[in-house]
Amino acid sequence: MNSNGNVGNAGGEQRQDLLGLPRRKLAAALEPFVDRPYRVEQIFRALYERGVTQLDSMTELGKDLRQHLGTAFTIAMPEVATHSVSEDGTEKYLFRLSDGATIETVDIPEGRRRTLCVSSQAGCALACRFCVTGFWGGGRNLTAGEIVAQVLAAQQGPDFRIEGVNIVFMGMGEPLLNLDALGDALEVLTERISRRRITVSTAGVIPGIEAMARWAKRPRLAISLHAPDDERRTSIMPINQRYPLKELMEALHRYPTEPRERITFEYILIDGFNDARADADAVAKLIRDLPAKVNLIPMNPDPALDPKLKPPPATRVEAFRRRLISRGLTATVRKRKGDDVSAACGQLRATDREPRGFRRSNLRF
Ligand code: SAH
Repeated sequence: MNSNGNVGNAGGEQRQDLLGLPRRKLAAALEPFVDRPYRVEQIFRALYERGVTQLDSMTELGKDLRQHLGTAFTIAMPEVATHSVSEDGTEKYLFRLSDGATIETVDIPEGRRRTLCVSSQAGCALACRFCVTGFWGGGRNLTAGEIVAQVLAAQQGPDFRIEGVNIVFMGMGEPLLNLDALGDALEVLTERISRRRITVSTAGVIPGIEAMARWAKRPRLAISLHAPDDERRTSIMPINQRYPLKELMEALHRYPTEPRERITFEYILIDGFNDARADADAVAKLIRDLPAKVNLIPMNPDPALDPKLKPPPATRVEAFRRRLISRGLTATVRKRKGDDVSAACGQLRATDREPRGFRRSNLRF
């Protein structure tokens, strides 16, 4: 893959992917090919308003132009390797990309809307102890086209429409370690989806948070907190060594939020590890001066992970939530969805990867 997003795979594909190019980049790429500037707008609309996946279906362009474009460009939609639908309506896609890498995208019904949980990398190098993607190890950055294509592919069908979806970057990978592609993908997506309906979740990559702070069309920010002190956070999230809590909190205090905007703090509740009343108090103390809300996620256990990593009983989850509320915070508990198709948080994996194998970690409880 070169910096222009050209796909160079085993099949010798050298055509440039049209997906994921923000308008100005699309215009620059098309400039040598199109006869009139409004062609750029026609192509942009065909891709994102109608969900067209074949250049040849853009009949508004005329046959010669389509053929000419076809020599240089492609619309690189991923192959659907598997698609499963859960009893609660959650859909899980395993997509195969042009180089064979696989990624997962989850489409979760929420009232009349749908939330798409998209991946930003194929694999993840951060090795969080509780995360199955981390267990399978590092992969590669997705291109902006591969990020946008997940949204388009999940919405394919006669009533194609991407306006109605929420998007959360909570699939595979660390979005803030793939800033260029994330930025381009967001530039494309926010043309049709409000940036307030898009959330970027990070394990706390401070330079990435600082970069996001400078974006004019910032999406919502979510921080994977998961422990109230450095010792425990480092034991489950190695990245905390590089970006410890004090510096992370300082970066968040500098982060510009809109009047009603909150930063979401995700907190996985792990039985006997971070679910004590004193832990709730410590979380409250840590974030109380920020425009914050807390989303509690009962740990999703997985056979690939340390067996000690399991959710607390429901009563304890509720007690933790109440304690946060009594300390003046807004706190919710994430509902489990898609369990029967392994679409739950942290269960997204690349099936063709060798595991990194940190199952027998020495977690301190
Ligand atoms: N790298 C980003 C986004 C991907 S993870 C980040 O760390 O935020 C998306 C969310 O799922 C994170 O909050 C992550 O901590 C959580 N998660 C991962 N594995 C989980 C598990 N086994 N149970 C519950 N939540 C999990």
